[in-house]
Amino acid sequence: MDKDFEILYKKAKELAHKKRLNAFVKYGHVGAALMTDKGNIYTGVAITCACQIGFCAEHSAISEMLKNNESRIVKIVAANSNTPVPACGRCREMIRMINEENMETEVMVSENEIVKIKDLLPYAWTLDTFDK
Ligand SMILES: [Zn+2]
Repeated sequence: MDKDFEILYKKAKELAHKKRLNAFVKYGHVGAALMTDKGNIYTGVAITCACQIGFCAEHSAISEMLKNNESRIVKIVAANSNTPVPACGRCREMIRMINEENMETEVMVSENEIVKIKDLLPYAWTLDTFDK
């Protein structure tokens, strides 16, 4: 496994410990870690509230990255406490929309497989097609 992915995967797993905040909210069942083109690492955890409110671990890692004025993700991993969790469709779209170059972002989908966002979104829609 690539050394960067080894570090990101370890960080994502370390964050992935489900905790219950109160009767409405649990968090941390999935952790995420990403690396930017500047080599910085940002992390996040998933939050799930009652009534299907919440967001993925990737979202909170991306928010942390944007707070630091970065948007180019080179590598990203989401994981529960013992295995990678492939990014959901919403996260795939978010990753590529925040920076067009993120179509090249590498995503760990299993311990033995890394794929690019462009491979996970082979027919990504564009604003051109949306406006027609
Ligand atoms: Zn997601």
